[in-house]
Amino acid sequence: MFLAVVQSLGITSLLVLIVITAAIALYIQRSLQPLMQINQLAAKVSAADLGQAQLQCDRAPTEVRELARTYNMMLERLAAAWEQQEQFVSNVSHELRTPLTIVYGYLQSVLRRETNLTTTQRDALETAASEADRTIRLLQDLLDLARADSGHLHFHMEAVPLNALIAEVAGMAQQYSNRDIIIEANDEIIVLADRHCLKQVLLNLIDNAVKYSDLSLPIALKIDQLEQARIQVCDRGVGIPLQQQARIFERFYRVDESRATSGYGLGLSIVKTLVDGMGGCITVASRLGEGSVFTITLPIAV
Ligand code: ADP
Repeated sequence: MFLAVVQSLGITSLLVLIVITAAIALYIQRSLQPLMQINQLAAKVSAADLGQAQLQCDRAPTEVRELARTYNMMLERLAAAWEQQEQFVSNVSHELRTPLTIVYGYLQSVLRRETNLTTTQRDALETAASEADRTIRLLQDLLDLARADSGHLHFHMEAVPLNALIAEVAGMAQQYSNRDIIIEANDEIIVLADRHCLKQVLLNLIDNAVKYSDLSLPIALKIDQLEQARIQVCDRGVGIPLQQQARIFERFYRVDESRATSGYGLGLSIVKTLVDGMGGCITVASRLGEGSVFTITLPIAV
């Protein structure tokens, strides 16, 4: 009898131990779940979705709930600071652009009308006008990016006949750059895009191709259609080192300051923002000293 009692006591204790261990394990797992959520959220949160990122853990223990509440408040403060910064950039760009445009206009009209300027005066006014123009373009780029960041960039998506658009863009670019632009196209392609944005993207890429290649070398615009429409802007210029190709779409990133051009490193980030916004994608393939090919893919209009 004694042995039977010891045996059943032993089994009961073992069962109780198993149940208690399982309960503790469950409790610990539930307590740690919000911490795992915090970890996942922190790993994937970006400036664009700071406002929406929030932790929900109503069933967690009080201490963890407190931690999650503080974390959510921190995210809210960060989102507000980020929004303020975007608003600031947008306001400053807007406020500076108007007076600068007026200054540029006056400088241009003096240069055009005054015939008795000395060479030194003319040079000085031309430098002032070109710097004003450069700064106006920088401010316009900053405004475009601020608009895209705040979600105020709206795309008017429509079916765009690509061949005609490419011919139009090539004509415009040829006029202002005085360079040979070759078009390579076979079939008629209709893409789903915002006509105005697509023109801006292509003009920007051609502008870079012109800036970073020799005057005597032509620039090619190729279009073809696989599953999606593909547009390529090809130059035979200086090229981009492999390790820097991934970074050229970042804001204010310039490959080499010694490649003195009038840009601020914003052109390609605007191009990427616009292409992404139209549901497309942009890539670059380049070899130093041989040239670069920028490839845009866009959905076909059905
Ligand atoms: P930027 O206005 O300074 O040209 P972008 O954003 O347009 O700025 O380009 C970023 C950098 O990428 C440039 O500094 C330039 O060095 C490089 N780059 C862009 N396009 C080309 C190209 N077609 N050939 C060679 N380098 C290029």
